[in-house]
Amino acid sequence: MRKILLLFPLSILIYSCAPKPYYVKPTEWKTPESIDSVIKSYSKDLTGWKFFIDPGHGGQDRRNIGIKKRVVEADVNLKVALYLRDFLTRAGAIVFMSREKDTTVSLQDRVRMATESGADIFISIHHNAQPGDPNTYYASTWYHAIEGDPRFHPCNRDIARYIQRDLAFALRISGSLASFDGTMSDYIVYPKQGFYVLRNATMPAVLVECTFFTNEYEERRLSIDEFNKIEAWGIFKGLAKYIMAGIPKIEILSDTILTTTKPTLILKVTDKSGIDKQSITIKVDSVMIPKDFITAVENKNFALILFTPNFNLTYGEHTIDVIVRNKNGNHSFPFKRKIYITNKKLTQP
Ligand SMILES: [Zn+2]
Repeated sequence: MRKILLLFPLSILIYSCAPKPYYVKPTEWKTPESIDSVIKSYSKDLTGWKFFIDPGHGGQDRRNIGIKKRVVEADVNLKVALYLRDFLTRAGAIVFMSREKDTTVSLQDRVRMATESGADIFISIHHNAQPGDPNTYYASTWYHAIEGDPRFHPCNRDIARYIQRDLAFALRISGSLASFDGTMSDYIVYPKQGFYVLRNATMPAVLVECTFFTNEYEERRLSIDEFNKIEAWGIFKGLAKYIMAGIPKIEILSDTILTTTKPTLILKVTDKSGIDKQSITIKVDSVMIPKDFITAVENKNFALILFTPNFNLTYGEHTIDVIVRNKNGNHSFPFKRKIYITNKKLTQP
């Protein structure tokens, strides 16, 4: 009993001698008012945007535990997600969550809930592990597939880049050296498959692995509430800056039921920064239309794109698939539309 009493203060002394985890409060966090004014400054761009936040694991899935058993990944993911929801809603965005408590949610249900919510962007929040290598830690933001793969869409990488940059800065840690900018393809982990939630999400989606709970120092940072808030702040600022840079909005102006097998179709692309004409990529039934068959006419806030397939279309249904990048480097969201070629004369109603 006496021995325990002696050891107890000693253990406190040893613990308090350990170097204090280091983190930097964002410069905007001087007062509650200064935080609020930064959040409000993004509301012009974020108002009305719908985000689905998915805190990974939870409920029966609490197996990922820090190297010193100070944190459970599921709990840290939820804390960061709730802070992120707070920042986004205060900026006028609408936020849906896959879970708000320590509950079990299957991967299938996470994707289904996201689709049903009608959210514009899906963000899954996790923390990483490198079992057997306690020295490794970095921030990484993941997108689905790789360039050249039909499942890859560059808008996912755009979102990942913005989040990754501001998250890494907020946490004062680098991105992984495995990629140039810290963003990663989920094919690195599961070739040709990727992560379930990114593969099956029906909207642009990213997965954030903020840092590692298998590194002792990072685990201690993760156990501090204010640090979790800083993680959310990094993700929030990245998302806000991404939206501020604009996302080209595509519409089809021409009729989608046509009588000619070589139609000229008209698209309207709206973007405040203007579009990069060189970036226009149009596929009809997965066949790329050569640049010579595409004309873009720019107006003040929008551009008109006219294109004619360089081959005759058969009668029936066809799919057009368009990607455009704006002058800030952001790509349009996935745009696929059906057109129908009929040999019946169209009559006015
Ligand atoms: Zn995880």
